[in-house]
Amino acid sequence: MTAHAFPTGTILGYPRIGRRRELKRAVEAFWAGTIDADELEARAAALRAATRERLADLGLDRATSAIPESFSFYDQVLDAAITVGAVPPRFAGLRDAGGGVDLAGYFTIARGVGDSAPLEMTKWFDSNYHYLVPEIGPDTVFTLHADRILAEFAEAKAQGFLTRPVVVGPVTFLLLAKPADDAPAGFGPLDRLGDLVPVYGQLLDRLAAAGAEWVQLDEPALVSESIDEPRDRVLESAATAYDALGAADARPSIFVAAPYGALDDALPVLAATPVEAIGLDLVRGTLAAQLDPVTEESLAAKTLVAGVIDGHNVWRGDLAAAFARVEAVQHLSGAVAVSTSTSLLHVPHDVDAETSLDARLGSWLAFADQKVAQVATLARGLGEGRETIETALDEASAALADRTSAPGVRVPAVRDRVTALADRDFARAVYDERVAAQQSLDLPELPTTTIGSFPQTGDIRRARARLVKGELDADGYRQLMRAEIERVVRLQEEIGLDVLVHGEPERNDMVQYFAELLDGFSVTEHGWVQSYGSRCTRPSILWGDVSRPAPMTVEWSSYAQSLTEKPVKGMLTGPVTILAWSFVRDDQPLGDTARQVALALRDEIADLERAGIRVIQVDEPALRELLPLKLAEQPAYLDWSVGAFRLATGGAASATQVHTHLCYSEFGVVIDAIKNLDADVTSIEAARSRMEVVDDIAASGFAHGIGPGVYDIHSPRVPSAVEVQALLERAVAEIPASRLWVNPDCGLKTRGYDETVASLEHILEAARAVRAEL
Ligand code: GLN
Ligand code: ZN
Repeated sequence: MTAHAFPTGTILGYPRIGRRRELKRAVEAFWAGTIDADELEARAAALRAATRERLADLGLDRATSAIPESFSFYDQVLDAAITVGAVPPRFAGLRDAGGGVDLAGYFTIARGVGDSAPLEMTKWFDSNYHYLVPEIGPDTVFTLHADRILAEFAEAKAQGFLTRPVVVGPVTFLLLAKPADDAPAGFGPLDRLGDLVPVYGQLLDRLAAAGAEWVQLDEPALVSESIDEPRDRVLESAATAYDALGAADARPSIFVAAPYGALDDALPVLAATPVEAIGLDLVRGTLAAQLDPVTEESLAAKTLVAGVIDGHNVWRGDLAAAFARVEAVQHLSGAVAVSTSTSLLHVPHDVDAETSLDARLGSWLAFADQKVAQVATLARGLGEGRETIETALDEASAALADRTSAPGVRVPAVRDRVTALADRDFARAVYDERVAAQQSLDLPELPTTTIGSFPQTGDIRRARARLVKGELDADGYRQLMRAEIERVVRLQEEIGLDVLVHGEPERNDMVQYFAELLDGFSVTEHGWVQSYGSRCTRPSILWGDVSRPAPMTVEWSSYAQSLTEKPVKGMLTGPVTILAWSFVRDDQPLGDTARQVALALRDEIADLERAGIRVIQVDEPALRELLPLKLAEQPAYLDWSVGAFRLATGGAASATQVHTHLCYSEFGVVIDAIKNLDADVTSIEAARSRMEVVDDIAASGFAHGIGPGVYDIHSPRVPSAVEVQALLERAVAEIPASRLWVNPDCGLKTRGYDETVASLEHILEAARAVRAEL
């Protein structure tokens, strides 16, 4: 093969949802049946075309593979699974004559149908993006279905672009997969590497034939030590895969990207393979000070793609320091390129779209488009000399200095309160004493509850939109929300739930709602990022010291409680989750910021208690998400994150039942941390993994209340009472009934009312049946 030059500036990937969430709208319209597959394809193609033009306008080269082809209709891991033919047997009927699946089939695998559960979904490294988990067994037949990748490449070419296809690499693909249900014990997807790599080889062959000069294979699993596979085996697999792929004659040049951290011991391994370019995340990781001579020699012959622009947060940052990091790599190789540290998938499109944002704050920010421009600037500096970009570097430095000294960034009263904290502020009375005090709640065995939100109906959204536009005044809005709360309370009473919720109708989002009421945050108008599939979130920006000017939830919760004799749960979002789902200031340790947020929540809990609320849930679905991928960094993280939760809840009276909720079930390394949260009741996801988690819970010695979810709220599917009963019976077999709670996997806000009511009725039916068996 001929070696191709790598572009001096590139990005690892770009948001695919569209500047105005066009893809979300199109995909959801297709699901609703209002547009057909051809129309969806046409809209997606238009979006891809617009993205390429935009990236070129922002300074990425059209003709040298600088522009990544990183589009996906739903998820890049699902795309890879489809590309290599890894369709689980329960979806075999979706295959067409050629063994591929069409768009409708693709979405069916993502979302499930009838009794066929969708692929499991879980968090992508330490981000808030969720991918679909491939299922690989000993008999999975890998066959190439490259039509889509080739078509997008050809589409770009016809538009005048030579783009760089981006595919999840084979090692990461298998490491993120789970063994198929019927796989024998001891089998791991990585066992199939030898069968998978040839299919990637064929893909490279086809891409070369189509004229691709570079392909990007994403291998973030190589930076993560939190993968359940011995490190040696991971490294060996990388060597095997890339030696094999590199050996082919007909292939594009291979760029292995390794976002989300330092490659560490994987760098020498990749260096020893024939791949032409290696991407380094130099925001999260640094290069080892000392590389062995063999590695140094190998690297000298490769392109090093320096990921110095942070793809994971929104700060404009220190551009001069970023440029210095690029220069620092130059002693290793003559061929150095500038890039983002990760795909820009994690940041919104464009700061300039934020016309209502404070201009001063805006000047401290860089979203995807600004980051692409930063890459282009640094690439120019690299090519033409630092002096050609001096002005841009100085402007960024001035913005950074302005940010440091701006009002609100450091507030003495907030800082003094954090400094004065003592150990006792982090602890409640012992658990047994609390259990005794909470008897007054008078709950049945296997108490039933929900996770907090009820469906956010069109009416609710419209009311909020009208409030924002000024068409509805605050009082009118309040009346509508109260009516909704009353409806939801009555509904829960009818269904027969034991601990009620107010339904969270007033919350546009579980973090943004609080961000709007706390000092130190700002919110954006168009700052959407993809969370999974067509779901997007709009993270708030935490830029200053955090404090609570007034109670945030008391009015709604106490109104709901006034309507019923049953306990109503107060609902708060925990400090770690508020941080994880916001864009957080990067000028102080996260733990310091977390304590400020925790104190605001602590005051809220005291106010809720005063208003007669006896059960309070503090959601921490993001606890595991922020867990560092490097083992050495985990203890310090768990220390501050658990501490922040305990600080938030540490003032609650013994009689107040504190719940927490986590959206996932892989307890793994965080099980001790979850115990240390010291919540009275913890609800978790379990339905999608069919209660697998109860074994781990039982084995872990977890001794407080636990509610493994019995209804997968990520899918429109209504579980039957029989199915829920089977899940509950499985749970009761492992966990004492006295500690078991019955609840869905997560909040119901994304569901419709019909499926919600039917599902909750089935849950109650199942709970009653299992209670009768006790
Ligand atoms: N209380 C929130 C809800 O029900 C929790 C959501 C979550 O965990 N992501 O919507
Ligand atoms: Zn959840």
